[in-house]
Amino acid sequence: MTDCIFCKIARKEMGSLIYEDELVAAFDDVNPQAPVHVLIVPKNHVERLLDVGDDDKLLLGHILVVANKIARERGVAEAGYRVVVNCNREAGQSVWHLHFHLLGGRKMGWPPG
Ligand code: 5GP
Ligand code: ZN
Repeated sequence: MTDCIFCKIARKEMGSLIYEDELVAAFDDVNPQAPVHVLIVPKNHVERLLDVGDDDKLLLGHILVVANKIARERGVAEAGYRVVVNCNREAGQSVWHLHFHLLGGRKMGWPPG
């Protein structure tokens, strides 16, 4: 998808990546909600969590392993971190390229708002 902002970031046409491999890219959120707020995205364009299926199980597991790696690198792993996917309108999805939020560095509230 040429006009998708997260595709452009993943292709390094804008912004800067903090991590990438053959499957995923990660970058700092432009409007961070915590001292650590990283977005992890598949390099292939997928709109929503709802759109992934059996063929994507490896990708989904891989994203969580990458989240762990970044949490450790950013120094929030032991204190605690949260991984969030907002899917569709009522959950607050605003960018239509699947992304996992990695949040850490402060005490989190529960339930989420
Ligand atoms: P959502 O609301 O879809 O779960 O999360 C979208 C996230 O993308 C938001 O946290 C927002 O700040 C972030 N975001 C939107 N546009 C950009 C951008 O151009 N660059 C970066 N780095 N983050 C973005
Ligand atoms: Zn995209």
